[in-house]
Amino acid sequence: MKSTAVKKRVQRTGSGDDPIILLENVSKSYTAGVPALNGINLHINKGEFVFVVGDSGSGKSTLIKVLTGVHEFENGEIRLDGKDGPIINKSPQDAQNNGISTVYQEVNLCPNLTVAENLFIGREPRKAGFIDWRTMNKRATELLKSLEIDASATQKLEEVSLARQQMIAIARAVDMKCKVLILDEPTSSLDDDEVAKLFKLMNRLKDEGVGIIFVTHFLEQVYEVCDRITVLRNGELVGEYEVKDLPRVMLVAKMMGKDFDDLADIKGDHAELKEFIPVIEAEGLSHKGTIKPFDMTINKGEVVGFTGLLGSGRSELVRAIYGADK
Ligand code: ADP
Ligand code: MG
Repeated sequence: MKSTAVKKRVQRTGSGDDPIILLENVSKSYTAGVPALNGINLHINKGEFVFVVGDSGSGKSTLIKVLTGVHEFENGEIRLDGKDGPIINKSPQDAQNNGISTVYQEVNLCPNLTVAENLFIGREPRKAGFIDWRTMNKRATELLKSLEIDASATQKLEEVSLARQQMIAIARAVDMKCKVLILDEPTSSLDDDEVAKLFKLMNRLKDEGVGIIFVTHFLEQVYEVCDRITVLRNGELVGEYEVKDLPRVMLVAKMMGKDFDDLADIKGDHAELKEFIPVIEAEGLSHKGTIKPFDMTINKGEVVGFTGLLGSGRSELVRAIYGADK
C-alpha cells in the first residue's frame, strides 16, 4: 500500500494546479463580532485527499456547513470547477446538485428502511409513477458489489454495523456522481479494520478524480492516506501543507499555536508516596476506535497526569473512566 501511495503522489500535479473547489476569504460568525471562521482561503485539487485538522472548536464543522449550505456566511466566495462565477449553496440539497456530498459522523440515513431504499431515497427508479423495486434492488446490489460493501440490498439498514452504514452513506454519494466528498469525523466510532476499509474506498474515489475533504482530530490516521493537511485554529487558517513538509510534532504545535520547544520543558517537583492504596483501578479499559486496552491505577494522595498528542485518546480515556462513554 505504501509504495503505490508514493507512486500516486509523484504522479499527482502540484497543489493549486487543478482545483476542484476553492474558498476565498470566507468568514462566518454565529454571534456578531465573534468569528467562527475568519477569512479562510483553501483549495482541494481533483483526485486529492485533504485532511482538515484542528482542535475542537477550531471551526472544522462550521467550514463544512458553510460549504454545504447548512449555514449562510457573511463574506468570501466559493468557486467550483466547471462553474463560471462563485457559487452559493442555499441548502445541502443545493450543494448536492452542485456535486458536493457530505457524510456526517452521525449517519443521516433511515434505520428502518432497507439498504437499497437508503441508497436511492428521493431518487428511486420508477415505472409508471410507482417505485420500481426490482430495478432499485438490482442497482443497489451492483453498487454495493462494485464498492465491495458487505451488505445486502434488501436488509434493513439498522441490521448492518455502523461502519457499513457509513460506507452505504458514501456509496449513495458516489452514485450521485459527486465531485467533492466531505466526511466530518467519520472514523471516531470505527475500529482499525473498519478505518482501513474506509480508506481503501476513499483511495478508489481519489483515483476516479473525486476531491476528498476529511475532517478529523485523530492524527494517527492523517499520515497514512492523505495528500495534504489543512490546519485550522480558532476559526483561522493556520496553513495548507504537503504531508511530507509537516512532521507530526509540528502539526500538533500548529494546531495548538505553540512552539514545540515550549512543550519539552515540563519539570516534576513532588513528594513521593509512602504507601500505595489504590482508589481507582482499571484493567483492559478500551473504547472502540479510540482507546486500545489500557491498565491504570491511581493511589490515595496521588495526582496523575494524562498526556499525549491531540487525538491520542486522552479525553476519551477519561470519559470512559467516569462513565460518560461505555
Ligand atoms: P469544530 O468542528 O472544529 O470542533 P465548530 O465549527 O463546531 O468547531 O465550532 C467553531 C466555533 O463556533 C466554536 O466556538 C463553537 O462554539 C461555535 N459554534 C459552532 N456551531 C455553533 C452554533 N450552531 N451556534 C453558535 N455557535 C456555534
Ligand atoms: Mg466538529
